[in-house]
Amino acid sequence: MKRIFVIATGGTIACREGEQGLVPELPLEELLNYVPKIREHCELGAVQLMNLDSSNMQPKDWLRIAEKIQKEYERYDGFVVLHGTDTMAYTAAALSYLLQNSPKPIVLTGAQKPIDEDISDARGNVIQSILYACDDRASDVNFVFNGEVIAGTRGRKIRTKSFNAFSSMDFPHKGVIRDNHVVHYIDRKNPGPLKAYRRLDEKIFVLRLIPGLDAGILEYLGERYHGIVLEGFGIGGFPSLSEMGFREGITRLLDRGIVVVATTQVPLEGSDLNVYEVGRLFKKDERLLEAYNMTLEAIVTKLMWILPQTGDWKEVHRLFYQEINFDIWR
Ligand code: ASP
Repeated sequence: MKRIFVIATGGTIACREGEQGLVPELPLEELLNYVPKIREHCELGAVQLMNLDSSNMQPKDWLRIAEKIQKEYERYDGFVVLHGTDTMAYTAAALSYLLQNSPKPIVLTGAQKPIDEDISDARGNVIQSILYACDDRASDVNFVFNGEVIAGTRGRKIRTKSFNAFSSMDFPHKGVIRDNHVVHYIDRKNPGPLKAYRRLDEKIFVLRLIPGLDAGILEYLGERYHGIVLEGFGIGGFPSLSEMGFREGITRLLDRGIVVVATTQVPLEGSDLNVYEVGRLFKKDERLLEAYNMTLEAIVTKLMWILPQTGDWKEVHRLFYQEINFDIWR
């Protein structure tokens, strides 16, 4: 029998109605009582690492989760992290960088409705996550949600209420769970050995451009952040007229060693800054990174993983463009 380790972190799945609204407080032991059948599939180990609404989850918590998995790695065959859905995509992407190339599956799941409600997705999501974590062909960091397996760097919460809350952005599902069987669409060839990292740089900022935005904000951000992600328009357009100050502002950021990534605020199909003049003018500076079709969650957490390792922009580029857990295609 497979040995599976469950890590509870909170989220709606563990919520109860409190005086101020839903709050995660169901202890893990009680939560697991709602899914007694999972013990027929595996030997279970479990820990309640925290009990947070995932809006309160921080990078230090991602590090705690990663460290716990690493600590238990030899004793278990797979891992299931129960997590709030709101920031699950950040945690899944962060774990993809902190625990790379894992031959053992690491699964994130949660629910849109608490496990103790009559109509809830929680029990199905937990059972399907355990099934996936037990599967011989499963590996790496993934979401298992609403019967779909999504690579850890590809998921995004796109619905606030429905059970099909997550989508695999610009990348096929890795598989589905049908009638309690895992169907694999995409396999990682010979994953392993695990490469684990323990540091993240939190000083990352995301700036979503709007028409009329004052480029003076870049100066302010440059004094406070080590990495800045600029969400431009369409396939890759940024305000380029010299009087707008963006080109000059970005050059100044790059000159002071700040990592700047250009991406698009359009959710699907990614960027190509070379198509229009309003993109290509910015690409002239080879120090500017372009995220192509990475999700925002992956861009942010990949920068957090890279920046503690190097300040050399060429090395930053090498690491950023290296594909990890299906995060980037160009
Ligand atoms: N607010 C909750 C959380 O992210 C939502 C959920 O879990 O679905 O913790």
